[in-house]
Amino acid sequence: MMDHQEVQELLPAYADQELGIVETLEIQRHLNGCADCQREYTAQCIVSARFKKEAGYFDAPPHLAQRIIAALPQDAASIRFWHVNWRNFRWRNVGAAMATMLALAWSVGLYLNLPSDQDKLTEEVIASHVRSLQVDHLSDVVSTDQHTVKPWFNGKLNFSPPVVDLAPQGFPLIGGRLDYLAGRPVAALVYRHAKHPINLYIWPTTDRDAPPQSQSRQGYHLVHWTWDGMNYWTASDLAAADLQQFADMVRSVVRQ
Ligand SMILES: [Zn+2]
Repeated sequence: MMDHQEVQELLPAYADQELGIVETLEIQRHLNGCADCQREYTAQCIVSARFKKEAGYFDAPPHLAQRIIAALPQDAASIRFWHVNWRNFRWRNVGAAMATMLALAWSVGLYLNLPSDQDKLTEEVIASHVRSLQVDHLSDVVSTDQHTVKPWFNGKLNFSPPVVDLAPQGFPLIGGRLDYLAGRPVAALVYRHAKHPINLYIWPTTDRDAPPQSQSRQGYHLVHWTWDGMNYWTASDLAAADLQQFADMVRSVVRQ
């Protein structure tokens, strides 16, 4: 004779007509006298019908069942829990769950293959640097005087970029212009070292300070860092070590 608890556990299988004749008759007899189980049975039939509609049958390979069982929690309470749910969670449901997981893995894979914001910004900086050389439009304001270049940005940007002259260090300022990066107007300062132009892009950020990071792409070198609420990106075809030196000098002068 099955008790109420046992019937509850077998109701999903009963609703799916998976039980043998003896269990089926026992449950039918119990259902006649138990309103709780009748309600549960009705609910289970609805769930069952929905799964039949939404998920096709799935033939799980035998080793999969072993692997799933091996992966289940080991303590007795959990085993009981899983055992109960096992009956609810029949192969076609596992098939649906696996399809969902595969779809999820697929989209995560796609997501990981998307270029990161940082990658996109790197591309943008290189494109801007190349464009500034191609159209001979390095500077809107041509001046080696930081006290001319800095005020030139007034009214053109909603922030005031730090403009430092590094002529004594061998990196003279030659001008500035407005540019557009990361979806916003930015200050572009132009320096020169041994005939190589250097673009230094500056714009405000809420990011925390970050040390310089170097990278090379398409024959250009880039260094970027964050300091005191400003993003700094510099790009040039200078040797990587020279650009790193330039970045270090900008950092030390801006901090003073
Ligand atoms: Zn009952």
